[in-house]
Amino acid sequence: MALKGIDIFKLTPKTNCKECGQPTCMAFGMKVAQGTAQIEQCPHMSEEALAKLGEATAPPMKSFKIGPADAELSLGGETVLFRHDKTFVSKTLFAVSADEAGADAVMAEAAKIDYERIGERMRVDIIHLEYAGDTAAYVEAAKKSAASGKAVILSVSDEGAAREALSAIKDARPVLNGANPDNREAFAALAKEFGVSLGVSADSLDALHETVQALEKDGVKDIILDVGTASIKSAFANAVQIRRAAIKSGDHSFGYPSLVNVAKLAPGDAGMQTALASLFILKYGSIVVMEGMSYAQALPLFGLRQNIYTDPQKPMTVETGNYPLNGADENSVCAVTVDFALTYFIVSGEIERSGIPVNLIIPDAGGYSVLTAWSAGKFSAGSIAAFIKEADIESKVKNRNLLIPGKVAVLKGELEENLPGWNIIVSPGEATSLVKFLKELDAA
Ligand code: SF4
Repeated sequence: MALKGIDIFKLTPKTNCKECGQPTCMAFGMKVAQGTAQIEQCPHMSEEALAKLGEATAPPMKSFKIGPADAELSLGGETVLFRHDKTFVSKTLFAVSADEAGADAVMAEAAKIDYERIGERMRVDIIHLEYAGDTAAYVEAAKKSAASGKAVILSVSDEGAAREALSAIKDARPVLNGANPDNREAFAALAKEFGVSLGVSADSLDALHETVQALEKDGVKDIILDVGTASIKSAFANAVQIRRAAIKSGDHSFGYPSLVNVAKLAPGDAGMQTALASLFILKYGSIVVMEGMSYAQALPLFGLRQNIYTDPQKPMTVETGNYPLNGADENSVCAVTVDFALTYFIVSGEIERSGIPVNLIIPDAGGYSVLTAWSAGKFSAGSIAAFIKEADIESKVKNRNLLIPGKVAVLKGELEENLPGWNIIVSPGEATSLVKFLKELDAA
């Protein structure tokens, strides 16, 4: 049961030493109860208090990793039903599905999706291998999937085939997805023996709940709940009910990540699978399994996922500094824009497209867009000039031409005063015009 701030306060040393960053132990207790501070931030908690609080303040959903050690993926750890309440934690993972015969083709297609958007690498996360009855071929497909460097889900309810595949790729830390009320005991033993997480399904939510409770008693720690494939309606209802039970009612047996197999909900219909995948990004699919992933599917899905799984409390920023683009050196022109990640990637993308070497200077602008940062006083002539001096740009770059965004053309005069010797050039108001502008500037 969730503890109140006062209960947590009673377990603190009550010395008000402030080492946790809070002014008093009471304030710390309130923060921990709200989930905005961790009990480990108090270095003076007794072992007994830590043990007591550890369980009571644990997130309502278990968090764990899957996949190979050098490319592990996070699942679970969610604490809210709605992103705007706080933030979602572990982004939805996309899996592409194949049986042993179709694995090569699906893997080759999946490998084509690999690009970067706002600093995040977008690629198919998981190969979902469906067992179709040929154990030798299944084991080979599992080996190839593991060798691809992606995480693997072994979707198999045959104990013998599961054991052979697990033996072959146990170091890749696959998910064993195939437990059900009938084979529960054997699959619990397999999951423990190979140290892997276990996917479980059942015909109804009640049966799923009972099976999970039995698995917990068997000692299985990392469980993934398959929301079922009877119909789109039931899969959606199950996903929502499971998450609500975990977050709202503190039902620990439903406090695990979920798996939604949209490949089985809409077989052969890539458009419907994409629509369903977008639905389950929002409503609680921890892993979404699709028949395949083309670029046309990936672009909207990864974009949506990135928007939903960024922390609304933190602006998306890039590091401040000088970014030499297109092989820029000390003689290349300088440009300045804000540290808001979306702005940086749009502007840098256009500059790269132009092929003109540019030193792109990024000062601390609070993570806001150009006009917002300017109106908040975070992107002013003073702050830009101060950053150019702090970052010692003048000793690293000889070129004294500085492009400023067209939207803040008003800064030109003040910047010339703040940066004597610099020639301030107002660039276009829209990044899309940068390519032509830079080429003309370079030719002038
Ligand atoms: S560090 Fe611990 S003892 Fe010190 S104020 Fe915070 S809660 Fe109290």
